[in-house]
Amino acid sequence: MNRAGRIVLAVTVLGAFWFCSGLFPPHLIPPPVKNAKTQKPMVALTFDDGPSEYTPKILKVLKKEHVHATFFVVGEEVNEFPALVRQAADEGNEVEDHSWTHPHLVWHGPHFIRTELETTRDAITKATGVRPHFFRPPYGQYHLGIMEIAHSLGLTTVLWSVTGYDWLEPGVARIVQNVTRGLAPGAIILLHDAGGNREQTVEALEQIIPLVEQREFQFVLLRDLFQNS
Ligand SMILES: [Zn+2]
Repeated sequence: MNRAGRIVLAVTVLGAFWFCSGLFPPHLIPPPVKNAKTQKPMVALTFDDGPSEYTPKILKVLKKEHVHATFFVVGEEVNEFPALVRQAADEGNEVEDHSWTHPHLVWHGPHFIRTELETTRDAITKATGVRPHFFRPPYGQYHLGIMEIAHSLGLTTVLWSVTGYDWLEPGVARIVQNVTRGLAPGAIILLHDAGGNREQTVEALEQIIPLVEQREFQFVLLRDLFQNS
């Protein structure tokens, strides 16, 4: 590239940066949360992509172990299984927004993104009577525009700090190891109650809960994790 080309490129990049920073003033957009800043031995269990036929099995384990979790649900599945979502909430769990169709939001425009988040938020509110407070972008993919839209809908964008990689179905022992290896105060653990065969996740959960509690970590809801940090 010649000198003039480099100057044009630099001006274009700086211009794009300036334009975007004007559209999304940083003070309006909290960065996505990967974990809570706390020294207290608290962690949050989160389940993505449900509800599905595996959700009752997950709920059964949680109930048996007296543990509450946070479910990031897909709106069209909420539409399909509203009773499961209601059951999760009635049993003391949080139900939060994971978009309507689980798309790659970064490939779409603002109107589409807003509709995905808003319709899911409203479906959750209708099914549970509780308005969601958190949003997790599908595939963990986000940009400032997505976060700004979530923020404008009253949703804090939350990612995760520990994943069981259960969607790869790597075997129960490996899922357990993936989760317990990454434990730290304020950790947000990602597992899935849908999106494929989740028998391994259910079985792993039965082992994960006592192992985590043996290490004197307490499972709390996301809102409590942040309130106590
Ligand atoms: Zn997902």
